[in-house]
Amino acid sequence: MKRYNVFALAREAARYHSGWERAWASPQPKKHYDVIIVGAGGHGLATAYYLGKNFGITNVAVIEKGWLGGGNTGRNTTIIRSNYLQDPSAAIYEKSRSLYETMSQDLNYNVMFSPRGVIMLAQTEHEVRGYKRTAQANALQGVATEFIGPEKVKQLVPIIRLEGPRYPVLGGLWQARGGTARHDAVAWGYARACSDMGMDIIQKCEVTGVQQEGGRVTGVQTTKGDIGCNKLGVVVAGHSGVLADMAGFRLPLESVALQALVSEPIKPCMDVVVMANTVHGYMSQSDKGEMVIGGGTDAGNNYTQRGSFHHVEETVSALVETFPMISRLKMLRQWGGIVDVTGDRSPILSKTPVEGMFINAGWGTGGFKAIPGSGWAMAELMAKGHSPLTEEFSMFRFREGKFIDESVAAGVAH
Ligand SMILES: Cc1cc2nc3c(=O)[nH]c(=O)nc-3n(C[C@H](O)[C@H](O)[C@H](O)COP(=O)(O)OP(=O)(O)OC[C@H]3O[C@@H](n4cnc5c(N)ncnc54)[C@H](O)[C@@H]3O)c2cc1C
Repeated sequence: MKRYNVFALAREAARYHSGWERAWASPQPKKHYDVIIVGAGGHGLATAYYLGKNFGITNVAVIEKGWLGGGNTGRNTTIIRSNYLQDPSAAIYEKSRSLYETMSQDLNYNVMFSPRGVIMLAQTEHEVRGYKRTAQANALQGVATEFIGPEKVKQLVPIIRLEGPRYPVLGGLWQARGGTARHDAVAWGYARACSDMGMDIIQKCEVTGVQQEGGRVTGVQTTKGDIGCNKLGVVVAGHSGVLADMAGFRLPLESVALQALVSEPIKPCMDVVVMANTVHGYMSQSDKGEMVIGGGTDAGNNYTQRGSFHHVEETVSALVETFPMISRLKMLRQWGGIVDVTGDRSPILSKTPVEGMFINAGWGTGGFKAIPGSGWAMAELMAKGHSPLTEEFSMFRFREGKFIDESVAAGVAH
């Protein structure tokens, strides 16, 4: 595959961009692969990429029922941070954040990583205590965060109102190297690199069954026919329970819609990401000028990838308290994605009761930030049977009561 660089850009500009080749191939499935990954979201594609890059396993198919990146990966609000409380979480999220720093160079694809800084506002005494504790835990984990006072918050976010009607801003947990990236580009960059390694990305192909012999996975049934494999990785976010059901076991998670919306574009007014977890809302400004806004999950389980009006109303009215200027903004678009939430708000990267079948799920409302780290760890787990980054994230931890409680760090989107 030709590399993207300044010379290629100049050459194509001179010939009306007629010479760009397709970024990834669209092959028909082969009869058998060493590894099949179900789900061409960021996590599935990253898993395939690191299987090839770190372990030389390239006889791989990534099977996607829709279009690649069309699930949560292309629907999220792109917040990247690693300020989690528990050690196993900080390890995988910080690995991920650090991989984002060099992802554009690594993939030769501009993912527009923007480490603009993330503040999680503390608006109750309880949050002040919680975030101070997280900042101390992060210091021990080698994750650079700090608890800042209201004056520093105001300095970083001039449009904020510190003395809200219900909840004043008492400070915040600040991660200067957190930020955002372009979500589609992350999926596209990994897809292009996987295709370049000879992997098959098969879109519009739904997995409808998991084939087994003597308790071991042998392949999948799909809408394009049966496809055999030695190892199977299931990375389908909100549909993890559906795939587990096909294989004959249950997963300790539930699927709910999470919604987001964007405003009309306005002049640059906020160059950090702000999360207000007490009132349930968060906001950043895109490069186009739109305010990107999200809130909490829907109240009931569902598989509806749509927005709903009451959600816009609830989220915006909550945020207006802290950002009065957004009351005059028109909202342009809203949408939803199906996220898979576990009881302890931590992910599952695990072997399953079916030999040779692995599951990567439970990233809930906050898995975009984890894409490269999760792919790295999942590839290691699938290639070697174990990974230091996944040890604590087994699906069996719920049976054993070994929770990784991240409800403070991840209880609200993201
Ligand atoms: C509105 C919203 C805002 C969010 N904001 C953030 C944020 O700011 N920061 C953050 O870190 N995270 C955020 N998230 C969460 C994040 O988007 C997800 O955790 C992450 O994208 C999950 O990636 P994935 O690759 O596991 O799943 P997905 O991108 O959903 O990919 C799974 C794929 O599997 C496919 N699939 C399902 N069933 C089958 C089948 N039977 N056969 C074949 N293919 C199948 C689906 O079509 C889908 O493409 C947000 C999510 C939403 C919805």
